[in-house]
Amino acid sequence: MITVEEAQTRIIESLAAHLPSTETLSLADVLDRVLAESICSDLDIPPFDNSAMDGYAVRSDVFASRTAEYPIRLKVVGTSAAGHPISARGISPVQCYRIMTGAPVPEDADAVVQSEWTQLDPEEKDVIWVSRPVPKGLNIRRQGSDISNGSAVLAPGTRITPAIIGILATLGKSRVTVYQKPLVAIISTGDELIDPDQTPMPGQIRNSNAYALHAAVCKAGGHPIIIPHAPDHLATIIARLDQASQYDLILSSGGVSVGDFDFVKQALDANGTQAFWRVNMKPGKPVTFGHYRHTAIFGLPGNPVSALVTFELFVRPFIRQWQGDTQWARMVVPLPLLDDFEEISDRRHYVRCQIRTQDGVVGVTANPDQGSAIQTSWLAAGGLMVIPENQGPWKKGSLVPVMLLH
Ligand code: AMP
Ligand code: MG
Repeated sequence: MITVEEAQTRIIESLAAHLPSTETLSLADVLDRVLAESICSDLDIPPFDNSAMDGYAVRSDVFASRTAEYPIRLKVVGTSAAGHPISARGISPVQCYRIMTGAPVPEDADAVVQSEWTQLDPEEKDVIWVSRPVPKGLNIRRQGSDISNGSAVLAPGTRITPAIIGILATLGKSRVTVYQKPLVAIISTGDELIDPDQTPMPGQIRNSNAYALHAAVCKAGGHPIIIPHAPDHLATIIARLDQASQYDLILSSGGVSVGDFDFVKQALDANGTQAFWRVNMKPGKPVTFGHYRHTAIFGLPGNPVSALVTFELFVRPFIRQWQGDTQWARMVVPLPLLDDFEEISDRRHYVRCQIRTQDGVVGVTANPDQGSAIQTSWLAAGGLMVIPENQGPWKKGSLVPVMLLH
């Protein structure tokens, strides 16, 4: 059986020749998409020297060696407010301008003294006193100190977060070229399955995978399409797979083990190629990846926990890489166990776990029942403990690797 890393390598290698197509969208529609263009700046950011504080724009040279015993007296000669640069020429050493955060710094001023450091003269209007030295450049945000004109700011492959959208807006990019999302067909299989709005008859269960996978595809940045569910009948499964093969990726759930009615595997044997079947992991061992006719396909196991764990480890990387995001790997951090973890497995175990602070220490605790059909093992799970094969038992306080999911 291959390892998780080997399986991931085969998945990524299968995309080596894939050239993602692009589309140009309005800034309001690109959250979580992957940037497909280089973004250079055609202006300095900030575009002008401006104040980082509400206060007074001054000439710092007059403050050298001034103390509380010898405060300096300044005459306020005008106001610079955000959006309202003052047109008057510069200031003399004994003058200052009232200035607000974000307002342009007047000519000749080279520091802004914050209001808290000043006293208004009790009698004389428009006079302030400052009793501290004010260093040159204090509270001034210099033109170009964030981004300089002509610089390369964002590279293709950048995932678009709210902060990136802010940068794009600042640079005037109201439309942005991003990679297209893959269209992902979702097929669930099993004679026992009914829709969530139906009441189960004996032997039936509600189809949860179709909806959980739909949500997982959305979250991973793909566009999901639910194909009508297929009973355990080879010809019907082939018909559904044929229908699904017009999309960029097929996700099937169920029917990939070695049971008598595991027809997805048989359909794939007949009309496809497999890059792998079975990975040395728990849960999710029977997971399959390959091509059905010419379309990439993941045959995910039917157990709901296995379906989502294999989605996380294999399908999400595919969906990210497909649209040019090579930074899909989740962060894995060592965290101390808050309780003993006794279970030893001969396969790599991905354990749904909660990350918590206990007695001031951030640690991790496994959710109680780790069965592959126990959907509540996901409750409050912020990560997956990655427990190597044949290792344990683990004592409270031992460091274990934890893959962060959020
Ligand atoms: P299979 O992989 O088809 O052998 O299914 C393994 C287990 O997962 C069985 O208990 C199935 O009833 C269950 N299962 C399969 N597909 C689904 C689904 N779409 N939703 C919920 N449970 C499922
Ligand atoms: Mg089945």
